[in-house]
Amino acid sequence: MAACLFCQIINRELNASIVYEDERVVAFNDINAQGPTHVLVVPRKHIASLNDLTADDDESVGELVRRAAAIAKSRGISAAGYRTVFNTNRDAGQTVFHIHLHLIGGRPMNWPPG
Ligand code: 5GP
Ligand code: ZN
Repeated sequence: MAACLFCQIINRELNASIVYEDERVVAFNDINAQGPTHVLVVPRKHIASLNDLTADDDESVGELVRRAAAIAKSRGISAAGYRTVFNTNRDAGQTVFHIHLHLIGGRPMNWPPG
């Protein structure tokens, strides 16, 4: 999916500040960080949104979540806390249609979100 922004980042066709990668998962700093830590954790596989997940993706999604927790730990924000978010479609404000787990932390946050 060459037209997908995050596929381009994964394939190194577009520059990003990559903080972690392995065979299935890539994590990079959000270009418009909403906190001292704002990392996007994505599967190498192109999946447009949570609406497109199948049972075959269960392992990858589990890895995204565990990787987000590991990055939070490595940044020393686990105890204070952090937020993990998947935005899906219009009402949630999804703008990039390749699933990504936002890891945001390093500051207190409000709930409910806007
Ligand atoms: P969404 O709104 O789809 O949940 O989140 C998309 C995120 O991707 C936004 O937080 C936005 O700042 C980030 N983003 C958009 N374009 C780029 C880019 O070219 N590079 C990086 N690193 N992040 C991007
Ligand atoms: Zn993609």
